[in-house]
Amino acid sequence: MTIQTLLKEVKSKNPKADLDLIRLAYDFAEEAHRGQKRLSGENYIQHSLATASNLANLGLSDTIIIAGLLHDVPEDTAKTIEDVEKEFGKEVAALVKGTTKLGKIKYRGIQRYIENLRKMFLAMADDIRIILIKFADRIHNLETLAPLPEEKRKRIALESLEIYAPIANRLGMGELKGRLEDLSFPYVLPEEYKMLTRRVKERFKEEEQYIKKAKKEVEELLREEKIEVVSIHGRAKHLYSLYQKLLKHDMDFNEIYDLIAIRIIVPTISACYATLGIIHKNWKPLKGRIKDYIATPKPNGYQSLHTTVFCLEGQVVEFQIRTPKMHEHAEFGIAAHFHYKEEGALKSKKDLRKEFAWIKDLILIQKEVKDQNQFLESIKTDIFQNHIFVFTPKGDVIDLPEGSTPVDFAYHVHTDLGNKCTGTKINEKMSKLDTKLKSGDMVEIIMDKKRKHPSTDWLEFVKTHLAKERIRRYTKR
Ligand code: MN
Repeated sequence: MTIQTLLKEVKSKNPKADLDLIRLAYDFAEEAHRGQKRLSGENYIQHSLATASNLANLGLSDTIIIAGLLHDVPEDTAKTIEDVEKEFGKEVAALVKGTTKLGKIKYRGIQRYIENLRKMFLAMADDIRIILIKFADRIHNLETLAPLPEEKRKRIALESLEIYAPIANRLGMGELKGRLEDLSFPYVLPEEYKMLTRRVKERFKEEEQYIKKAKKEVEELLREEKIEVVSIHGRAKHLYSLYQKLLKHDMDFNEIYDLIAIRIIVPTISACYATLGIIHKNWKPLKGRIKDYIATPKPNGYQSLHTTVFCLEGQVVEFQIRTPKMHEHAEFGIAAHFHYKEEGALKSKKDLRKEFAWIKDLILIQKEVKDQNQFLESIKTDIFQNHIFVFTPKGDVIDLPEGSTPVDFAYHVHTDLGNKCTGTKINEKMSKLDTKLKSGDMVEIIMDKKRKHPSTDWLEFVKTHLAKERIRRYTKR
Protein backbone atom coordinates (compact mmCIF):
# COMPACT_ATOMS: atom_id res chain seq x y z
CA MET A 1 0.00 0.00 0.00
CA THR A 2 1.14 3.54 -0.71
CA ILE A 3 0.16 6.97 0.58
CA GLN A 4 -1.48 7.60 -2.81
CA THR A 5 -3.81 4.63 -2.32
CA LEU A 6 -4.73 5.88 1.15
CA LEU A 7 -5.40 9.43 -0.09
CA LYS A 8 -7.58 8.03 -2.85
CA GLU A 9 -9.60 6.01 -0.34
CA VAL A 10 -10.00 9.00 1.96
CA LYS A 11 -11.11 11.21 -0.91
CA SER A 12 -13.68 8.72 -2.17
CA LYS A 13 -15.30 8.61 1.26
CA ASN A 14 -14.88 12.28 2.13
CA PRO A 15 -14.33 14.73 -0.76
CA LYS A 16 -13.59 17.55 1.70
CA ALA A 17 -10.82 15.78 3.62
CA ASP A 18 -7.60 17.71 4.25
CA LEU A 19 -5.34 15.55 2.11
CA ASP A 20 -2.30 17.81 2.62
CA LEU A 21 -2.43 17.33 6.37
CA ILE A 22 -2.84 13.57 6.01
CA ARG A 23 0.18 13.48 3.72
CA LEU A 24 2.14 15.51 6.25
CA ALA A 25 1.28 12.96 8.95
CA TYR A 26 2.40 10.18 6.62
CA ASP A 27 5.76 11.90 5.98
CA PHE A 28 6.24 12.35 9.72
CA ALA A 29 5.43 8.70 10.49
CA GLU A 30 7.44 7.40 7.54
CA GLU A 31 10.53 9.29 8.66
CA ALA A 32 10.10 8.18 12.27
CA HIS A 33 9.66 4.49 11.40
CA ARG A 34 12.25 4.45 8.59
CA GLY A 35 14.46 1.38 8.76
CA GLN A 36 12.02 -0.54 10.97
CA LYS A 37 10.60 -3.77 9.63
CA ARG A 38 7.59 -5.87 10.58
CA LEU A 39 8.19 -9.59 11.16
CA SER A 40 6.70 -10.18 7.72
CA GLY A 41 9.69 -8.27 6.29
CA GLU A 42 7.55 -5.34 5.21
CA ASN A 43 8.49 -1.77 6.08
CA TYR A 44 6.85 -0.74 9.34
CA ILE A 45 5.03 2.16 7.68
CA GLN A 46 2.84 -0.42 5.91
CA HIS A 47 1.21 -1.09 9.28
CA SER A 48 0.55 2.62 9.85
CA LEU A 49 -0.96 2.93 6.37
CA ALA A 50 -3.16 -0.14 6.81
CA THR A 51 -4.43 1.14 10.16
CA ALA A 52 -5.27 4.52 8.65
CA SER A 53 -6.92 2.83 5.69
CA ASN A 54 -9.18 0.76 7.95
CA LEU A 55 -10.25 3.99 9.65
CA ALA A 56 -10.81 5.75 6.33
CA ASN A 57 -13.03 2.89 5.18
CA LEU A 58 -15.20 3.33 8.25
CA GLY A 59 -15.81 6.84 6.92
CA LEU A 60 -14.08 8.46 9.89
CA SER A 61 -12.80 12.02 10.04
CA ASP A 62 -9.30 13.37 9.20
CA THR A 63 -8.29 13.71 12.85
CA ILE A 64 -8.80 10.00 13.49
CA ILE A 65 -7.08 8.98 10.27
CA ILE A 66 -4.06 11.14 11.16
CA ALA A 67 -3.93 9.65 14.67
CA GLY A 68 -4.08 6.22 13.00
CA LEU A 69 -1.00 7.01 10.89
CA LEU A 70 0.88 8.19 13.97
CA HIS A 71 -0.37 5.62 16.49
CA ASP A 72 2.91 3.71 16.93
CA VAL A 73 5.28 6.66 16.66
CA PRO A 74 5.83 7.49 20.36
CA GLU A 75 5.92 3.83 21.37
CA ASP A 76 8.37 2.55 18.80
CA THR A 77 10.45 5.48 17.53
CA ALA A 78 12.69 8.30 18.74
CA LYS A 79 9.91 10.84 18.24
CA THR A 80 7.85 11.63 21.34
CA ILE A 81 4.24 12.49 22.05
CA GLU A 82 5.38 16.12 22.49
CA ASP A 83 6.76 16.09 18.94
CA VAL A 84 3.38 14.83 17.71
CA GLU A 85 1.58 17.56 19.62
CA LYS A 86 3.86 20.27 18.22
CA GLU A 87 3.18 19.17 14.65
CA PHE A 88 -0.44 18.08 14.77
CA GLY A 89 -2.02 19.68 17.82
CA LYS A 90 -3.51 18.60 21.13
CA GLU A 91 -6.43 16.56 19.83
CA VAL A 92 -4.33 14.25 17.64
CA ALA A 93 -1.71 13.94 20.39
CA ALA A 94 -4.35 12.92 22.95
CA LEU A 95 -5.69 10.23 20.61
CA VAL A 96 -2.19 8.88 19.95
CA LYS A 97 -1.36 8.90 23.64
CA GLY A 98 -4.52 6.95 24.45
CA THR A 99 -3.60 4.27 21.93
CA THR A 100 -0.06 3.80 23.22
CA LYS A 101 0.70 0.84 25.44
CA LEU A 102 2.33 1.12 28.85
CA GLY A 103 6.05 1.74 29.18
CA LYS A 104 8.14 -1.35 28.57
CA ILE A 105 9.51 -2.19 32.02
CA LYS A 106 6.74 -1.41 34.48
CA TYR A 107 4.94 -4.76 34.37
CA ARG A 108 5.56 -8.24 33.03
CA GLY A 109 3.55 -11.24 31.88
CA ILE A 110 -0.11 -11.48 32.80
CA GLN A 111 0.19 -8.40 35.00
CA ARG A 112 1.37 -6.32 32.06
CA TYR A 113 -1.45 -7.70 29.96
CA ILE A 114 -4.11 -6.75 32.48
CA GLU A 115 -2.65 -3.34 33.20
CA ASN A 116 -2.67 -2.64 29.47
CA LEU A 117 -6.32 -3.60 29.31
CA ARG A 118 -7.10 -1.33 32.23
CA LYS A 119 -5.33 1.51 30.50
CA MET A 120 -7.21 0.85 27.30
CA PHE A 121 -10.58 0.87 29.06
CA LEU A 122 -9.80 4.12 30.86
CA ALA A 123 -8.62 5.78 27.66
CA MET A 124 -11.71 4.55 25.86
CA ALA A 125 -14.05 5.90 28.52
CA ASP A 126 -12.31 9.23 28.17
CA ASP A 127 -12.54 9.32 24.38
CA ILE A 128 -14.34 6.53 22.55
CA ARG A 129 -12.44 7.28 19.34
CA ILE A 130 -9.40 5.62 20.88
CA ILE A 131 -11.01 2.20 20.69
CA LEU A 132 -11.75 2.78 17.00
CA ILE A 133 -8.02 3.26 16.38
CA LYS A 134 -7.29 0.15 18.46
CA PHE A 135 -9.71 -1.84 16.31
CA ALA A 136 -8.13 -0.62 13.07
CA ASP A 137 -4.67 -1.46 14.45
CA ARG A 138 -5.82 -4.90 15.62
CA ILE A 139 -7.42 -5.81 12.28
CA HIS A 140 -4.10 -5.30 10.50
CA ASN A 141 -2.18 -7.14 13.22
CA LEU A 142 -4.53 -10.10 12.79
CA GLU A 143 -4.13 -9.98 9.03
CA THR A 144 -0.37 -10.25 9.47
CA LEU A 145 -0.19 -12.81 12.29
CA ALA A 146 1.30 -15.63 10.25
CA PRO A 147 5.04 -14.88 10.74
CA LEU A 148 4.73 -14.62 14.55
CA PRO A 149 5.67 -17.49 16.90
CA GLU A 150 2.71 -19.77 17.56
CA GLU A 151 2.25 -18.85 21.19
CA LYS A 152 2.09 -15.16 20.42
CA ARG A 153 -0.26 -15.74 17.50
CA LYS A 154 -2.66 -17.59 19.69
CA ARG A 155 -2.56 -15.03 22.47
CA ILE A 156 -3.31 -12.11 20.15
CA ALA A 157 -6.10 -14.00 18.40
CA LEU A 158 -7.66 -15.09 21.67
CA GLU A 159 -7.55 -11.59 23.07
CA SER A 160 -9.24 -10.31 19.92
CA LEU A 161 -11.95 -12.92 20.27
CA GLU A 162 -12.55 -12.46 24.00
CA ILE A 163 -12.05 -8.72 24.46
CA TYR A 164 -12.02 -6.76 21.20
CA ALA A 165 -14.89 -8.48 19.38
CA PRO A 166 -17.29 -8.21 22.34
CA ILE A 167 -16.46 -4.50 22.71
CA ALA A 168 -17.17 -4.00 19.00
CA ASN A 169 -20.44 -5.83 19.48
CA ARG A 170 -21.48 -3.71 22.41
CA LEU A 171 -20.61 -0.59 20.43
CA GLY A 172 -22.99 -1.82 17.73
CA MET A 173 -20.20 -2.36 15.16
CA GLY A 174 -21.57 -5.59 13.72
CA GLU A 175 -19.42 -5.72 10.64
CA LEU A 176 -16.20 -5.07 12.51
CA LYS A 177 -17.05 -7.61 15.19
CA GLY A 178 -17.51 -10.24 12.45
CA ARG A 179 -14.15 -9.37 10.90
CA LEU A 180 -12.28 -9.52 14.21
CA GLU A 181 -13.81 -12.92 14.96
CA ASP A 182 -13.26 -14.40 11.53
CA LEU A 183 -9.62 -13.29 11.46
CA SER A 184 -8.98 -14.80 14.92
CA PHE A 185 -10.93 -18.03 14.41
CA PRO A 186 -8.26 -19.99 12.42
CA TYR A 187 -5.60 -19.28 15.07
CA VAL A 188 -7.72 -20.00 18.12
CA LEU A 189 -9.51 -23.13 16.84
CA PRO A 190 -7.59 -24.36 13.78
CA GLU A 191 -9.26 -27.80 13.51
CA GLU A 192 -12.78 -26.47 13.89
CA TYR A 193 -12.02 -23.75 11.40
CA LYS A 194 -10.85 -26.23 8.75
CA MET A 195 -13.87 -28.46 9.28
CA LEU A 196 -16.30 -25.58 8.98
CA THR A 197 -14.79 -23.95 5.90
CA ARG A 198 -14.93 -27.33 4.17
CA ARG A 199 -18.60 -27.82 4.99
CA VAL A 200 -19.54 -24.25 4.13
CA LYS A 201 -17.77 -24.44 0.78
CA GLU A 202 -19.84 -27.47 -0.20
CA ARG A 203 -23.06 -25.57 0.36
CA PHE A 204 -21.93 -22.25 -0.97
CA LYS A 205 -22.62 -22.61 -4.71
CA GLU A 206 -26.16 -23.89 -4.24
CA GLU A 207 -26.98 -21.11 -1.81
CA GLU A 208 -25.66 -18.45 -4.10
CA GLN A 209 -27.94 -19.65 -6.90
CA TYR A 210 -30.90 -19.80 -4.55
CA ILE A 211 -30.38 -16.29 -3.16
CA LYS A 212 -30.27 -14.91 -6.71
CA LYS A 213 -33.63 -16.50 -7.46
CA ALA A 214 -35.27 -15.44 -4.20
CA LYS A 215 -33.95 -11.91 -4.54
CA LYS A 216 -35.51 -11.55 -7.98
CA GLU A 217 -38.83 -12.83 -6.70
CA VAL A 218 -38.89 -10.37 -3.77
CA GLU A 219 -38.01 -7.47 -6.03
CA GLU A 220 -40.91 -8.41 -8.25
CA LEU A 221 -43.37 -8.65 -5.34
CA LEU A 222 -42.32 -5.29 -3.93
CA ARG A 223 -42.55 -3.63 -7.32
CA GLU A 224 -46.13 -4.88 -7.72
CA GLU A 225 -47.01 -3.26 -4.41
CA LYS A 226 -45.18 -0.07 -5.38
CA ILE A 227 -42.61 -0.21 -2.62
CA GLU A 228 -39.40 1.55 -3.51
CA VAL A 229 -36.33 -0.53 -2.75
CA VAL A 230 -32.97 1.02 -1.85
CA SER A 231 -31.17 -2.31 -2.08
CA ILE A 232 -31.58 -6.05 -1.63
CA HIS A 233 -28.67 -8.36 -1.01
CA GLY A 234 -27.95 -11.78 0.36
CA ARG A 235 -25.70 -11.65 3.35
CA ALA A 236 -23.14 -14.35 3.99
CA LYS A 237 -23.11 -15.32 7.63
CA HIS A 238 -19.78 -14.67 9.32
CA LEU A 239 -17.96 -17.94 9.85
CA TYR A 240 -17.29 -17.65 13.57
CA SER A 241 -20.83 -16.60 14.40
CA LEU A 242 -22.07 -19.58 12.38
CA TYR A 243 -19.73 -21.80 14.39
CA GLN A 244 -21.11 -20.41 17.66
CA LYS A 245 -24.65 -21.17 16.55
CA LEU A 246 -23.77 -24.67 15.35
CA LEU A 247 -22.24 -25.43 18.75
CA LYS A 248 -25.62 -24.81 20.34
CA HIS A 249 -27.29 -27.21 17.91
CA ASP A 250 -25.02 -30.27 17.81
CA MET A 251 -23.37 -28.98 14.63
CA ASP A 252 -26.61 -29.58 12.71
CA PHE A 253 -26.92 -27.15 9.79
CA ASN A 254 -30.67 -27.82 9.54
CA GLU A 255 -31.16 -26.09 12.88
CA ILE A 256 -29.67 -22.82 11.65
CA TYR A 257 -32.50 -20.67 10.39
CA ASP A 258 -30.50 -17.70 9.22
CA LEU A 259 -28.05 -19.62 7.07
CA ILE A 260 -29.70 -17.99 4.09
CA ALA A 261 -30.54 -14.39 4.89
CA ILE A 262 -31.68 -11.61 2.63
CA ARG A 263 -31.41 -7.99 3.62
CA ILE A 264 -33.96 -5.54 2.24
CA ILE A 265 -33.31 -1.82 2.62
CA VAL A 266 -36.30 0.45 2.06
CA PRO A 267 -36.58 4.24 2.52
CA THR A 268 -38.91 4.55 5.52
CA ILE A 269 -40.10 2.78 8.66
CA SER A 270 -43.60 2.36 7.28
CA ALA A 271 -42.11 0.80 4.15
CA CYS A 272 -40.31 -1.67 6.46
CA TYR A 273 -43.61 -2.84 7.98
CA ALA A 274 -45.31 -2.90 4.56
CA THR A 275 -42.47 -5.08 3.25
CA LEU A 276 -42.86 -7.45 6.18
CA GLY A 277 -46.58 -7.72 5.39
CA ILE A 278 -45.91 -8.53 1.75
CA ILE A 279 -43.43 -11.24 2.66
CA HIS A 280 -45.86 -12.84 5.10
CA LYS A 281 -48.67 -12.65 2.55
CA ASN A 282 -46.62 -14.74 0.15
CA TRP A 283 -44.65 -17.06 2.40
CA LYS A 284 -45.62 -18.63 5.68
CA PRO A 285 -43.56 -17.34 8.63
CA LEU A 286 -42.05 -19.70 11.20
CA LYS A 287 -43.55 -19.32 14.65
CA GLY A 288 -41.56 -17.30 17.17
CA ARG A 289 -39.12 -16.03 14.59
CA ILE A 290 -40.65 -12.61 13.94
CA LYS A 291 -38.62 -9.96 15.73
CA ASP A 292 -39.43 -6.28 15.82
CA TYR A 293 -36.17 -4.59 16.72
CA ILE A 294 -37.57 -1.34 15.33
CA ALA A 295 -40.12 -0.98 18.12
CA THR A 296 -37.71 -2.51 20.65
CA PRO A 297 -34.09 -1.97 19.61
CA LYS A 298 -31.33 -4.21 20.98
CA PRO A 299 -29.33 -2.67 23.86
CA ASN A 300 -26.57 -1.73 21.44
CA GLY A 301 -29.03 0.28 19.35
CA TYR A 302 -29.51 -2.29 16.57
CA GLN A 303 -32.79 -1.83 14.67
CA SER A 304 -34.38 -4.03 12.00
CA LEU A 305 -37.36 -6.29 11.40
CA HIS A 306 -36.46 -9.99 11.26
CA THR A 307 -38.65 -12.79 10.04
CA THR A 308 -37.98 -16.35 8.95
CA VAL A 309 -40.28 -17.82 6.30
CA PHE A 310 -40.71 -20.92 4.16
CA CYS A 311 -39.67 -19.19 0.96
CA LEU A 312 -39.40 -20.52 -2.63
CA GLU A 313 -39.29 -24.33 -2.81
CA GLY A 314 -40.06 -24.46 0.91
CA GLN A 315 -36.53 -23.32 1.75
CA VAL A 316 -36.14 -21.58 5.14
CA VAL A 317 -34.95 -17.99 4.62
CA GLU A 318 -34.47 -15.13 7.06
CA PHE A 319 -35.38 -11.63 5.91
CA GLN A 320 -33.93 -8.54 7.59
CA ILE A 321 -35.76 -5.35 6.74
CA ARG A 322 -34.45 -1.90 7.63
CA THR A 323 -33.99 1.72 6.52
CA PRO A 324 -30.63 3.06 5.22
CA LYS A 325 -30.06 4.83 8.52
CA MET A 326 -30.65 1.65 10.52
CA HIS A 327 -28.35 -0.16 8.13
CA GLU A 328 -25.56 2.31 8.70
CA HIS A 329 -26.01 1.98 12.42
CA ALA A 330 -25.99 -1.83 12.21
CA GLU A 331 -22.76 -1.90 10.24
CA PHE A 332 -20.84 0.92 11.86
CA GLY A 333 -22.50 1.42 15.25
CA ILE A 334 -20.76 4.05 17.29
CA ALA A 335 -18.36 4.81 14.43
CA ALA A 336 -21.31 6.42 12.64
CA HIS A 337 -21.21 9.18 15.27
CA PHE A 338 -17.66 10.01 14.26
CA HIS A 339 -18.34 9.95 10.59
CA TYR A 340 -16.79 12.95 8.87
CA LYS A 341 -20.28 14.12 7.88
CA GLU A 342 -21.40 14.15 11.48
CA GLU A 343 -18.47 16.07 12.90
CA GLY A 344 -20.40 19.35 12.94
CA ALA A 345 -23.39 17.76 14.59
CA LEU A 346 -21.27 15.52 16.79
CA LYS A 347 -23.17 14.31 19.78
CA SER A 348 -21.73 15.49 23.04
CA LYS A 349 -19.69 13.08 25.14
CA LYS A 350 -22.57 13.05 27.57
CA ASP A 351 -25.04 11.82 24.95
CA LEU A 352 -22.69 9.05 23.94
CA ARG A 353 -22.16 8.04 27.53
CA LYS A 354 -25.90 7.74 27.96
CA GLU A 355 -26.21 5.63 24.86
CA PHE A 356 -23.37 3.40 25.95
CA ALA A 357 -23.93 3.40 29.68
CA TRP A 358 -21.93 0.21 30.13
CA ILE A 359 -18.73 2.16 29.57
CA LYS A 360 -19.44 3.66 32.96
CA ASP A 361 -19.68 0.13 34.37
CA LEU A 362 -16.27 -0.58 32.92
CA ILE A 363 -14.85 2.29 34.94
CA LEU A 364 -16.63 1.12 38.09
CA ILE A 365 -15.25 -2.40 37.77
CA GLN A 366 -11.88 -0.94 37.03
CA LYS A 367 -12.02 1.06 40.27
CA GLU A 368 -13.63 -1.53 42.52
CA VAL A 369 -12.14 -4.84 41.50
CA LYS A 370 -8.48 -4.78 42.47
CA ASP A 371 -7.63 -8.47 42.19
CA GLN A 372 -6.26 -9.07 38.71
CA ASN A 373 -7.79 -12.40 37.85
CA GLN A 374 -11.10 -11.28 39.24
CA PHE A 375 -10.87 -8.11 37.19
CA LEU A 376 -10.68 -10.08 33.97
CA GLU A 377 -13.55 -12.35 35.06
CA SER A 378 -15.69 -9.34 36.00
CA ILE A 379 -15.13 -7.75 32.64
CA LYS A 380 -16.05 -10.95 30.89
CA THR A 381 -19.31 -11.58 32.77
CA ASP A 382 -20.51 -8.08 33.57
CA ILE A 383 -19.64 -6.41 30.32
CA PHE A 384 -19.20 -8.93 27.55
CA GLN A 385 -21.62 -11.76 28.24
CA ASN A 386 -24.93 -12.00 26.45
CA HIS A 387 -27.17 -9.28 27.67
CA ILE A 388 -30.81 -8.88 28.52
CA PHE A 389 -32.51 -5.56 28.84
CA VAL A 390 -35.13 -4.74 31.44
CA PHE A 391 -37.08 -1.63 32.33
CA THR A 392 -37.34 0.54 35.41
CA PRO A 393 -40.88 1.60 36.43
CA LYS A 394 -40.12 4.93 34.72
CA GLY A 395 -39.38 3.13 31.46
CA ASP A 396 -35.59 3.55 31.47
CA VAL A 397 -33.74 0.65 29.90
CA ILE A 398 -31.12 -1.13 31.99
CA ASP A 399 -28.96 -3.80 30.47
CA LEU A 400 -27.59 -6.69 32.48
CA PRO A 401 -25.80 -9.97 31.79
CA GLU A 402 -28.00 -13.01 31.22
CA GLY A 403 -28.95 -14.71 34.48
CA SER A 404 -29.14 -11.45 36.47
CA THR A 405 -31.60 -11.12 39.35
CA PRO A 406 -33.51 -8.16 40.86
CA VAL A 407 -30.62 -7.69 43.31
CA ASP A 408 -28.19 -7.23 40.39
CA PHE A 409 -30.69 -4.79 38.94
CA ALA A 410 -30.89 -2.85 42.23
CA TYR A 411 -27.09 -2.56 42.55
CA HIS A 412 -26.86 -1.53 38.95
CA VAL A 413 -29.23 1.37 39.51
CA HIS A 414 -27.69 2.53 42.79
CA THR A 415 -25.60 1.05 45.60
CA ASP A 416 -28.09 2.32 48.15
CA LEU A 417 -31.00 0.69 46.36
CA GLY A 418 -29.10 -2.60 46.46
CA ASN A 419 -28.17 -2.35 50.13
CA LYS A 420 -31.72 -1.53 51.20
CA CYS A 421 -33.78 -3.76 48.95
CA THR A 422 -36.22 -6.14 50.64
CA GLY A 423 -38.50 -7.26 47.84
CA THR A 424 -39.30 -6.87 44.18
CA LYS A 425 -42.14 -6.65 41.73
CA ILE A 426 -41.52 -8.09 38.28
CA ASN A 427 -44.11 -6.96 35.75
CA GLU A 428 -46.15 -5.72 38.71
CA LYS A 429 -46.23 -9.12 40.44
CA MET A 430 -44.50 -9.72 43.77
CA SER A 431 -41.51 -11.95 43.06
CA LYS A 432 -38.54 -13.46 44.85
CA LEU A 433 -35.22 -11.64 44.88
CA ASP A 434 -33.43 -14.58 43.23
CA THR A 435 -35.72 -14.70 40.19
CA LYS A 436 -33.77 -14.74 36.93
CA LEU A 437 -34.82 -11.73 34.88
CA LYS A 438 -35.86 -11.93 31.25
CA SER A 439 -35.52 -9.34 28.50
CA GLY A 440 -38.41 -6.91 28.56
CA ASP A 441 -39.26 -7.41 32.26
CA MET A 442 -40.30 -4.33 34.18
CA VAL A 443 -38.55 -4.42 37.55
CA GLU A 444 -39.48 -2.48 40.64
CA ILE A 445 -37.41 -2.68 43.81
CA ILE A 446 -39.06 -2.39 47.20
CA MET A 447 -36.80 -0.62 49.64
CA ASP A 448 -36.66 -0.66 53.40
CA LYS A 449 -35.18 2.70 54.31
CA LYS A 450 -34.24 1.52 57.78
CA ARG A 451 -32.28 -1.41 56.49
CA LYS A 452 -28.54 -0.89 57.04
CA HIS A 453 -26.83 -3.61 55.03
CA PRO A 454 -27.34 -6.27 52.39
CA SER A 455 -27.84 -9.96 53.15
CA THR A 456 -24.89 -12.31 52.65
CA ASP A 457 -27.32 -14.96 51.31
CA TRP A 458 -27.59 -12.88 48.17
CA LEU A 459 -24.02 -13.86 47.31
CA GLU A 460 -25.36 -17.27 46.36
CA PHE A 461 -27.45 -16.03 43.48
CA VAL A 462 -26.25 -12.63 42.28
CA LYS A 463 -24.69 -12.73 38.84
CA THR A 464 -22.73 -9.51 38.36
CA HIS A 465 -19.34 -9.04 39.96
CA LEU A 466 -20.32 -5.49 40.80
CA ALA A 467 -23.17 -6.68 43.03
CA LYS A 468 -20.93 -9.34 44.61
CA GLU A 469 -18.21 -6.83 45.30
CA ARG A 470 -20.61 -4.45 47.02
CA ILE A 471 -22.24 -7.11 49.15
CA ARG A 472 -18.84 -8.45 50.19
CA ARG A 473 -17.75 -4.98 51.19
CA TYR A 474 -20.43 -5.04 53.88
CA THR A 475 -19.72 -8.54 55.09
CA LYS A 476 -16.08 -7.62 55.61
CA ARG A 477 -17.00 -4.85 58.03
MN1 MN B 1 0.05 -0.73 15.86
